[in-house]
Amino acid sequence: MAMTQSSLLIAEDAPESGKRAQVLVPYPLSRAYDYLLPGDMSVQPGDYVRVPLGKRDTPGVVWTLEGKDKIDPAKLKNIQQKYAFEPMPQVHRQFLEWVARYTMSDLGAVLKMSLSAPEALQPPKTANAYTLAGAMPEKLPAARRKIVELLSDGVPRRAVDIAREAGCSAALIRSMAAAGQLAARPASSPAPCRDINLDDTSLTFSKDQQSAADALRKLAGAGKFSTVLLDGVTGSGKTEVYFEAVAEAVRQGRQALILLPEISLSAQFLERFERRFGTAPALWHSEVPAAQRRVTWTGVAEGKTKVVVGARSALFLPYADLGLIIVDEEHDASFKQEEGVMYHARDMAIVRARLGGFAAVLVSATPSLETMVNVQQGKYHYLQLPARHAGAKLPDIHIVSLKLAPPSRGKFISPLLEKALQETFAAGEQSLLFLNRRGYAPLTLCRTCGFRFQCPSCSAWLVEHKRFSRLQCHHCGFLQNVPRACPSCNDEDSFAACGPGVERIQEEVQGLLPDARTFILASDVITSPNMIRGAVRDIEDRKHDIIIGTQIIAKGHHFPSLTCVGVIDADLGLSGGDLRAGERTFQLLHQVAGRAGRGEKMGRVYLQTYMPEQSVIRALAKNNRDEFLAVEAREREKAGMPPFGRLAGLIVSGPDEMKLDQFCRAVAQKAPRYDDIRVLGPAPAPMAYLRGRHRRRFLIKAGKEISLQKYLAEWLSTVKVPSALLLKVDIDPQSFF
Ligand code: ADP
Ligand code: ZN
Repeated sequence: MAMTQSSLLIAEDAPESGKRAQVLVPYPLSRAYDYLLPGDMSVQPGDYVRVPLGKRDTPGVVWTLEGKDKIDPAKLKNIQQKYAFEPMPQVHRQFLEWVARYTMSDLGAVLKMSLSAPEALQPPKTANAYTLAGAMPEKLPAARRKIVELLSDGVPRRAVDIAREAGCSAALIRSMAAAGQLAARPASSPAPCRDINLDDTSLTFSKDQQSAADALRKLAGAGKFSTVLLDGVTGSGKTEVYFEAVAEAVRQGRQALILLPEISLSAQFLERFERRFGTAPALWHSEVPAAQRRVTWTGVAEGKTKVVVGARSALFLPYADLGLIIVDEEHDASFKQEEGVMYHARDMAIVRARLGGFAAVLVSATPSLETMVNVQQGKYHYLQLPARHAGAKLPDIHIVSLKLAPPSRGKFISPLLEKALQETFAAGEQSLLFLNRRGYAPLTLCRTCGFRFQCPSCSAWLVEHKRFSRLQCHHCGFLQNVPRACPSCNDEDSFAACGPGVERIQEEVQGLLPDARTFILASDVITSPNMIRGAVRDIEDRKHDIIIGTQIIAKGHHFPSLTCVGVIDADLGLSGGDLRAGERTFQLLHQVAGRAGRGEKMGRVYLQTYMPEQSVIRALAKNNRDEFLAVEAREREKAGMPPFGRLAGLIVSGPDEMKLDQFCRAVAQKAPRYDDIRVLGPAPAPMAYLRGRHRRRFLIKAGKEISLQKYLAEWLSTVKVPSALLLKVDIDPQSFF
């Protein structure tokens, strides 16, 4: 057939001889790029595919079907494979785009958080599993009938398991499969948390609990976006109440996500979940082993897994049909991811709920100021659980002025607290001493010349750990032995420990009560979820009399025999210029105090402080959270600080201090000027040197109505960051180190 002139022209003018699709890959790229579709492949947005990238292959996600890159088609590469997998739902893709825009991150970097178990896309390499297939003949020989009965529960089983459970041969299973009576498919571990018990809770709720549960159930079942704060003191039954919202979402056929801070620490939480739902939740956090991640990721994406309990990263799983998010301990700072994509999981959870048209439930005994202001402005619903379950009373809080009644020289426990520890021990009850400092002493110096041990890569003192007889940097992990002689003046045995860490407090307690069994609960001693489980059980079983703990003790644990809490240094978190120092200290110490007297016995709490008049300490003593928040809100409003204004941070770092400062000055000069936006800095960061890099910060402050992202985009488009330097944008910064 002769080619006409015009068809030749078309062939030349329309280079897309093959169809294209834009594929997003999980690398720090700002957008999806064009790939060619092989002739026999058809894709839709959300499909998981495999594409070449540089010299490698990578999984990616089809983002749009129209290719738009102006690129020589000869240079385009083919999509190599389409995975036989549920496409990523559109709402999830919208969510990833939203997060990328808001946090000013590369879309590909955000996708990476969702492709967090790439192996899950590959078919599993295991034996077949069998299920019943189609109609069975009326009459079956006994051996076959046994197999049919066994498999009638719908759970696929491998041949070895069927043979064992039904007492038959593997050959019989194969012959039934060949006859079409059994269906074979590749076996893999079943998705976790599939069948959950949705019967009503076995608890008898109090009137307040019941009405909160009813309200939550209604919001969870409404099929539309809402945000609600569930506010209630520790032990008031918030968890049991929000479980009812979870049950409702699952009843509606949707999935639920419970976000928790520091998930691995919550063995008690998991036991409660199992008691309520008759099965364990699907867990998602950094320590979940790869094989389990794969199974969970698949179960979530296919919609089989109904409830996920996870750390902030669980928000980025590609749920088939998410219908509820609970953010427990919504005030917790660990919801903010401080590296990579800097996002706040609580805030992004609300965005996800809005996009998905469902309810987000924030839960706390000490809600953040942001959340409380949103409640007051009527943006969030509000539910309160006023009393502790079964009438357990809130502890008595005593303020111990370290000026008026100081500990004796070289000690850190004041006489009042000493007495309380002795009494508690004599009564056969448990005490908790709280100090948010690992190790023995935060600073070691030479008594002769004043030399201090400092980290070579960070602006930080080295912390002595007697346990490992080493000095350690808590920022980068640097370790060194304690030398015999001072590196500066060569004097021997001249070192003095300054200040207390938990190890030193333990030593002091052992001197005070030699018969008491003491125990340190800190993240460097207790390093795995199993160890935490064990430690919590030992405390419950009263194997320890006095627990000395850092902040990992503050959360969620319920110890009925613990009646006395001592806070060694209530002022510790108040120094430094952090915007939320007061709020965070209040939250932490309130939680620590809440560990006392959760059983029938009355608890008591001692707060050691040099600042008994400080507003945080007074609010703690009066147990007046709302007054504290009101004062805090007034001050922030006056200063135009969040939640009444907006903040963004720029953190610039690099190994060469001069080049860094030069660059920062240039960046500062390029800042566009507007009346209602203030740019502060560059200034050395409080951690001015970290892991071998010098650090400078800018703080950008603006009114609520201003889009800092637009401003920063305008500014940063004029800036070229040299390769040795790193510039990070932190929208809504939570930490200012
Ligand atoms: P919160 O989440 O507010 O700290 P929890 O839900 O953890 O409170 O409840 C504290 C303890 O009281 C848990 O052991 C819980 O099982 C128990 N509890 C709460 N409400 C009831 C109830 N109505 N009946 C029996 N036990 C309850
Ligand atoms: Zn260091």
